[in-house]
Amino acid sequence: MKRLQDRVAVITGAASGIGLASARRFAQEGAVVVGVDLNTDAIEALAKETGGAAITCDVTDEQTVEAMYAQVVADHGRVDVAFNNAGISPPEDDSILDTGIEAWERVQKVNLTSVYLCCKYVLPHMRAQGRGSIINTASFVAVMGAATSQISYSASKGGVLSMTRELGVQFAREGIRVNALCPGPVNTPLLRELFAADAERARRRLVHVPMGRFAEASEIAAAAAFLASDDSSYMTASTFLVDGGISGA
Ligand code: NAD
Repeated sequence: MKRLQDRVAVITGAASGIGLASARRFAQEGAVVVGVDLNTDAIEALAKETGGAAITCDVTDEQTVEAMYAQVVADHGRVDVAFNNAGISPPEDDSILDTGIEAWERVQKVNLTSVYLCCKYVLPHMRAQGRGSIINTASFVAVMGAATSQISYSASKGGVLSMTRELGVQFAREGIRVNALCPGPVNTPLLRELFAADAERARRRLVHVPMGRFAEASEIAAAAAFLASDDSSYMTASTFLVDGGISGA
């Protein structure tokens, strides 16, 4: 028996990077994966590949998120796993001295408000089922300084971590687990775009990784599959760091 056999798993940001690798991993482990993203072509191709489904959704839009979860439950009968993973990194310098209010608010909206909305609208379904696993993608920068001056990004991920703890504690007795997955730097389009314009920034970050390399998305997907599955049945409200040793150094 595969450990995610027939589990209905919604993954946001499934068109790329960590979300894409996780969709593939979850499907290999038996899950019915519903890929959610703005990039319709990519998630439809993914659904063909995995035998799952695709829903185009802007996770910052309240009505769309509510409708997305209603559709998942109407189509599949339930939702066992919600991997709230979609996120952005500010393209330009994100130092507090340079970041404008618009860029700040955009990052909070995509990285933090979206997680609030996805949790808010999946929780009633999970409560009715009496079980569920929610995984929110935070980052190692939620627990320590990043050495790359990412003020809006770090603040948004700190918010995700705090919200995860609150929810994990609040719903622990209802069979719903809520955990924060905190990757170190991962070799995805998000990271490559961030460093493309600034090789020095990449070097500064790599210096802080004891393993001396960035993660591959599949390594984060493996951790997400663990959190999604009953192998992590005694874990909730946790800060699950997968960071090549950064936070321990
Ligand atoms: P990515 O850019 O490869 O993928 C992000 C996906 O999110 C894209 O497919 C994008 O279309 C989607 N997305 C963005 N805004 C959306 C919206 N409003 N509605 C729906 N979908 C939207 O990035 P990634 O590196 O795979 O990052 C995934 C998550 O991991 C993010 O939350 C990111 O902050 C976090 N993270 C990444 C790293 C890293 O180094 N790559 C490290 C720590 C945490």
